[in-house]
Amino acid sequence: MSYDDQNIFAKILRGEIPCDKVYEDEFSLAFRDINPQTPVHVLVIPKGRYVSLDDFTVKADREEIAGFFSAVGTVARELGVDESGYRVLANHGRDAHQEVPHFHVHIFAGRSMRGMVPKAPTE
Ligand code: AMP
Repeated sequence: MSYDDQNIFAKILRGEIPCDKVYEDEFSLAFRDINPQTPVHVLVIPKGRYVSLDDFTVKADREEIAGFFSAVGTVARELGVDESGYRVLANHGRDAHQEVPHFHVHIFAGRSMRGMVPKAPTE
């Protein structure tokens, strides 16, 4: 899948759409999810053009990968959820129902989260 420069996170990175920014560094931008699933729900995205975690880990260089995942930990600490706990999630592709085709990691926190993944639908 090729990168779509018109995806919503590309527009946020270019400053064409506002976001509720919580952190930014050389490699990464973090902002609050527009439709939060938990009291704290923040997205961390790399600044490079990567469709998903798969694309990122194939194409990004080591410095970018290290910088990005380091930022995820920094953001969680700056949000103050490292003591209470948090969940990190990245959706890749169809089965995971990835909606925005720019790699992002969700940080969920602020309440207890039971169950690793939703149960399979019964038909
Ligand atoms: P995913 O299903 O992993 O691709 O998740 C995409 C996430 O992006 C969802 O949780 C959306 O609520 C969130 N989202 C979509 N548009 C925006 C936006 N403009 N600002 C912040 N979060 C957004």
